[in-house]
Amino acid sequence: MIFLLARRQLLRQVAAQNARNFSSQAGAAEVNRLGVVGAGQMGLGIALVAAQRAQVPVTLVDNSQASIDKSLKFADKLLEKDVAKQRITKDDALAARERIYATTTMDDLSNVDFVIEAVPEIPDLKTSIFSQLALTCPKHAILATNTSSISVTKIAAATTNGYPTDLSAASRVISTHFMNPVPVQKGVEIITGLQTSQSTIDTAVAFVKRMGKIPSQSADSPGFLANRILMPYINEAIICLETGVGGRDDIDNIMKNGTNVPMGPLQLADFIGIDTCLAIMKVLHEQTGDSKYRPACLLTKMVDAGWLGKKTGKGFYEY
Ligand code: NAD
Repeated sequence: MIFLLARRQLLRQVAAQNARNFSSQAGAAEVNRLGVVGAGQMGLGIALVAAQRAQVPVTLVDNSQASIDKSLKFADKLLEKDVAKQRITKDDALAARERIYATTTMDDLSNVDFVIEAVPEIPDLKTSIFSQLALTCPKHAILATNTSSISVTKIAAATTNGYPTDLSAASRVISTHFMNPVPVQKGVEIITGLQTSQSTIDTAVAFVKRMGKIPSQSADSPGFLANRILMPYINEAIICLETGVGGRDDIDNIMKNGTNVPMGPLQLADFIGIDTCLAIMKVLHEQTGDSKYRPACLLTKMVDAGWLGKKTGKGFYEY
């Protein structure tokens, strides 16, 4: 009986979230400066597309100068490639690059209108960043997360900094879940927490569109839509590899040539990041309690070995 009541309440919450208005951006606020926290593969991609397509100045924050240096080098390479392929002019590339200001200081986010967090998929790290963002960013700024699987409601709750009834920052928290690689993939999942206000939704949807992306709506449920579907597929491919159902190339080739996807699941795991895949599977497993989401043993071992995929030069493939 208690289970049925809890389930009914959950369904009501999901229905209320789904009833929010995603189609009109009447209450959208202007975004004149974007902040991005985390200059890894997603953060850099988001900063670059915002600077190029939305043409906003971007403050890119990372706690590692080495990550910033690596990312800015990569940004230069991507822009050079765009110029070489005549997709943009040299002046456009220069202007986009000049719009990105990189820093290791979170306090530099004190003048942004919208911030997107893209630090690793570790729940405690995300919540500590959001409690800091609530104190550092202006009181009107939208606080968005690029989380792949962690509850937006939980992340938003961290902004109250111990005052659970103070929803002023929590109402400005939302997820804008960009896909990898950001310059290429058009889809962005928009996920609202229980606390998210309509004007936050309007501003986020309008800004994502300004970046040339196509927003889709997902409920705040473990893994949302994209990773609820994608990660068990990747995890199953890894289980097939470790139990000898097929070799690496057979697994990737049959999916590539048999379902017309651009790359097989093991190569895709390398591109996403093996640590990110494990973190998402753990969230799915822990939050649903469903054993069908248990991470493959090999996935855990690869993270222990530091074989995190393309970003570290070794995963299922070598780079
Ligand atoms: P990444 O490991 O490439 O980058 C993370 C960056 O965050 C690093 O540069 C790191 O130095 C920085 N960082 C760590 N702690 C920090 C702190 N306290 N303050 C500031 N910077 C800090 O990770 P990623 O692949 O870019 O993933 C980032 C987020 O995007 C994760 O939540 C992930 O789940 C999500 N995501 C990833 C993908 C993907 O395919 N990789 C796709 C969609 C969403």
